[in-house]
Amino acid sequence: MKKNNSPWLTQLHKDRNSVSLQKDIHTDVVVVGAGIAGITTLYFLLTQTDKHAVVLEGHKISHGATGHNAGQVVAEFEKPLKEIVLEHGIEKAVAGVHSIELAWDLLKEILKETKITVPFHEFVGCGGYSELVQLVNDLETEKIRKEHGLPSFPVLVSFESGWFTQIPEVYKTLCKEVPQEEILERLEVLHPDYHAVIQQNKAVLNSALFTEKLALWCLEKFPSRCSIFEYSFVHGIELEEKTPVVITNEAKVSCEKIVLCTNGFENFYIHDTKDIDIDGKFHHVVQGAVGYMTGFVSEHPEKYMANYYYDTGKIRGNDPFSSDPYFYVTKRNFNHDAGMFQLTTIGGPEVRLDNREIYHREFETADELQNASVRFAEQHFDMTDVEHRFFWHGLMGYTTSGVRLVGVEPLEPRLLYNLGCNGVGILPSIMGARKIARHVNGEKVEETIFDPKR
Ligand SMILES: Cc1cc2nc3c(=O)[nH]c(=O)nc-3n(C[C@H](O)[C@H](O)[C@H](O)COP(=O)(O)OP(=O)(O)OC[C@H]3O[C@@H](n4cnc5c(N)ncnc54)[C@H](O)[C@@H]3O)c2cc1C
Repeated sequence: MKKNNSPWLTQLHKDRNSVSLQKDIHTDVVVVGAGIAGITTLYFLLTQTDKHAVVLEGHKISHGATGHNAGQVVAEFEKPLKEIVLEHGIEKAVAGVHSIELAWDLLKEILKETKITVPFHEFVGCGGYSELVQLVNDLETEKIRKEHGLPSFPVLVSFESGWFTQIPEVYKTLCKEVPQEEILERLEVLHPDYHAVIQQNKAVLNSALFTEKLALWCLEKFPSRCSIFEYSFVHGIELEEKTPVVITNEAKVSCEKIVLCTNGFENFYIHDTKDIDIDGKFHHVVQGAVGYMTGFVSEHPEKYMANYYYDTGKIRGNDPFSSDPYFYVTKRNFNHDAGMFQLTTIGGPEVRLDNREIYHREFETADELQNASVRFAEQHFDMTDVEHRFFWHGLMGYTTSGVRLVGVEPLEPRLLYNLGCNGVGILPSIMGARKIARHVNGEKVEETIFDPKR
């Protein structure tokens, strides 16, 4: 059995003091959850509105999914784009992707404005395909992206595979034939099965460190307008007629609005005096999955990589739980206790939680889950002089829409959401944070694929 041991948490401030909520207070906006969604929401509330805000975190800043992910920054959905088009129409689907693309700029703006120093490296990442059917499945997304002016790169297909002639005509203009050697070079694999590459803009970020530093910046810059209380678990929300109240173990916060940035697994009740049952109808439909990660360190830091690999027999399904379609791999320079290393992380597998089963960060994990990624690493990369040092897991909340929920609860305008990681959540959280600030500011906000629906 393995302990949850995330490399991202090792870079956090070691002697930081946490403050918990001890007495009843009033504020304008309560944000529940201090992951990247909660803290970027706080940032935009402070910089784009004149509201006062309080963040309530049940554990510590950045110790949820934000501190247990793969740290690949990418503007995509795990759900195939063609499915989103079918549900919402092309205009809204494209606007949805576009808003996530714009979150790149928001992230860079935050880094520039706050002067937070946190390793953030941008480059082109790759997705590797070992079977034609896997590639064809993903080409529709590339087609939509290209046709609608979203950033896209040529899809590279190997001469040796003979796949090009079998690719449907509508997708051929997206593809370019190259020797397989070039494909393997881009994927940085030894494995001879890979015959195609899709490329994307990517970056690597320690989202936990970013979130912690941003939280401290908010506290320092706006001391009279914000507070962050850690170890202040919210166990109830009372939507009273006049003033909503958020209840923690020790005390209460009354407010005008509440923003849930809990990733979807809050384990609290919501009671409304109008008896509209927000709780049962909405909150219990976020489905959980635990994502497992493995990290290897080696000397000679030099490489940045953020790739995914569709191994033989794997295919992206419509239901994110029906398959683990790929392993995702990142490489980065990593500053750890004894100096700078190359850190290689491997993401996968993902295991579904039973309905409303409670996840605990402290859970130890069966060796088999770790062995799956170690086997993958051994088959794909040169593992000499590499030390297996980290193994960790985190919670992913999948919404029924398959995309993040951002916006106002349709039955209760004082309750807002920026939650549901759906596999890829760093940029969507930031996009959501900006949108929540616009709602709170009373601006007219356009309808999107992220709107909570009934
Ligand atoms: C294994 C794994 C790999 C991933 N890889 C990537 C990746 O490469 N790229 C990417 O973009 N995304 C990735 N993600 C998703 C991404 O990490 C998340 O979407 C993002 O961090 C979510 O941030 P969040 O703030 O919404 O949630 P969290 O970071 O989980 O924060 C929610 C916070 O709410 C708090 N909370 C919950 N309930 C309560 C309560 N009742 N009272 C008080 N506080 C409460 C929790 O303690 C937690 O701190 C990955 C996720 C996992 C698990």
